[in-house]
Amino acid sequence: MNKTEEMYTALGIAPEVLSYGEKILEGLKERFEKIDERAEYNQLKVIRAMQECRVSAECFQTSSGYGYNDLGRDTLEKVYARTFQAEAGLVRPQITCGTHALAVTLFGNLRPGDELLSISGKPYDTLEEVIGIRPSMGSLAEYGVTYAQADLKEDGSFDFEAIRRLLRPETKMVEIQRSKGYQTRPTLSVDQIEEAISFVKSIRPDVICMVDNCYGEFVEDREPSEAGADLMVGSLIKNPGGGLAPCGGYIVGKEEYVEQAARRLTCPGLGKEVGASLGVMQSFYQGFFLAPVVTAAALKSAIFAANLYGSLGFSVVPGPKEERHDIIQAVTFGVPEGVIAFCKGIQAAAPVDSYVTPEPWAMPGYDSDVIMAAGAFVQGSSIELSADGPIKPPYAVYFQGGLTWPHGKFGILMSLQKLYEAGTIHFPSDQIQESV
Ligand SMILES: *Cc1c(COP(=O)(O)O)cnc(C)c1O
Repeated sequence: MNKTEEMYTALGIAPEVLSYGEKILEGLKERFEKIDERAEYNQLKVIRAMQECRVSAECFQTSSGYGYNDLGRDTLEKVYARTFQAEAGLVRPQITCGTHALAVTLFGNLRPGDELLSISGKPYDTLEEVIGIRPSMGSLAEYGVTYAQADLKEDGSFDFEAIRRLLRPETKMVEIQRSKGYQTRPTLSVDQIEEAISFVKSIRPDVICMVDNCYGEFVEDREPSEAGADLMVGSLIKNPGGGLAPCGGYIVGKEEYVEQAARRLTCPGLGKEVGASLGVMQSFYQGFFLAPVVTAAALKSAIFAANLYGSLGFSVVPGPKEERHDIIQAVTFGVPEGVIAFCKGIQAAAPVDSYVTPEPWAMPGYDSDVIMAAGAFVQGSSIELSADGPIKPPYAVYFQGGLTWPHGKFGILMSLQKLYEAGTIHFPSDQIQESV
């Protein structure tokens, strides 16, 4: 045993679990090289933007009160805009999360009588109350903004005929959600999004095209904002925060539309001019700087999980060989014990709270018990290694994140260890022999 193997043993990974994992990894070398190449490109993209925007040590200073003339905040917004090739950005700790960033964008740009059209089917759960799909106090629906939806086709591609039919005179904004989130459809590629936007624009050039980019940043070498989107929105406790941003969200896009969002976040007349940076600037900058490699680590972790559990006969989405457009991995175990053991493994491998054992519980808003694993530095961060699964058929677990690849690897091995201990999996017999 070498030192690393000894360390795995000390941490509770059985030799046969480790050797099975290593076998799977041997087949992933080329794939991982491609991910590193993309991370290299995206890293340079971020550095170039930081240099062109003249980021300096002064940018990390904090402001309080109104936050007038906050150099760090204003420069960071330029860095985001430059990196994502957009005209303007709004990147703030006052944006509490991804849902809030999306809500500010929608409320800022829609007026009574306007219609919002989602062309990627049902939007992310938390947006249902924002839009008013589920009636809710203060929703867009209460302000007289209507909603229409074009579902994706059976194969997960855009339904262009439905989109054409649903683009009505009152349609003001089209929403596209890149990531599948926690649905079973495939995640959309930037190429697909580009095609859909140009289709919409060919019919209605004036419609604002907004992309919910959560979980998608730096997975490909360009973003939807570089492929025709007028607005792109995401969360800083996912990919672009790089694990360091303690909170926040971003909006980038056309100057006018970003300004509309800013006037909703603060108020008319003040817009982007106010908003103290409260000491978070260095973590925002440094997190964004790290984001391309952190996203690469999360991608490797997802691909490792897909190949490992796929090889053991479990259904995995995306598939082991499938191209990636976000960092989420679903594994279907078919039995509750599988979901529970997986989450216990992820928790046991965490740097924080590793000694607690996650248990399924009746979370508000869910129709079944849910188990969640996260030993995160930032509460609820899903760019950090995390997993959750509703305890109901088909007993699937959703897994994402990993700030570093060695941690992602360890977490997945630990999940396998827990499944092994629970007797939920058995290795093909040749593997066990070879591992001795
Ligand atoms: C996470 C997510 C959101 C919401 O982000 P929060 O930060 O959890 O509010 C919206 N859309 C998609 C696709 C997401 O993955």
